[in-house]
Amino acid sequence: MHASSPQGRFATGASLLDGDRLVRADAWGKYLFVNFSGGQTLHVHLGLIGKFRDRGPDPGEPTGAIRLRLRNDGGCWDLSGPTRCELIERHERRTIESHLGADPLRRRPDVASARQRVAGMRTPIGAVLLDQTVIAGLGNIYRAEILFLCGIHPLRPSRALTDDEFAAIWDESGRLLRIGVRTGRIVTTDPGEIGVSRSAMRASDTLYVYHRQHCRRCGSEIETVQLAGRPMQFCPVCQPQ
Ligand SMILES: [Zn+2]
Repeated sequence: MHASSPQGRFATGASLLDGDRLVRADAWGKYLFVNFSGGQTLHVHLGLIGKFRDRGPDPGEPTGAIRLRLRNDGGCWDLSGPTRCELIERHERRTIESHLGADPLRRRPDVASARQRVAGMRTPIGAVLLDQTVIAGLGNIYRAEILFLCGIHPLRPSRALTDDEFAAIWDESGRLLRIGVRTGRIVTTDPGEIGVSRSAMRASDTLYVYHRQHCRRCGSEIETVQLAGRPMQFCPVCQPQ
């Protein structure tokens, strides 16, 4: 495959990948690891604005600040705006993974240790859901929507959650992340409740509480708390204290 850095910021790394075969791509939470036949491991974290775009078999000249372009006869992917895009050693990958919690999208995630961590924390659950060392893969939108769907107030101390409540959070995390993978967008609302399919939904109908003035379900005024340094919305009626 052909690798290049049209923007130039990953020119050295791309030159080391150029001509190699992509062997395997594997995500853990928000971290993507891509192995190449030459033995290199590419590590990508998209951050808030990063994007991997499928440019198809006939991509044309790169436009915008493209950190990395991967291309073969069958297709082309452009990476822009990542927080991390670097070649790492095997031990560096192990170090990153050793700090990551259970990822609901991975095979055989360690749910028991996530449950154990949560049971020992007095930190509000709304903050803990952003902690990638407990559950890996959730961001600011998902944490708000998951707690809404579970009817759990974001300020509840984590260790006060029952086993059933933790199981509900875990199940919702997996369900919503899989919908995200399938549809390519974050949709947490129930198509039956909205009246159209997920792909046909207007952006304003895709979420229940995140960045909304009023709860999509009951119409109550949404409240905001600062948790883990970021604002988090919740519905005081659907998620009672
Ligand atoms: Zn509500």
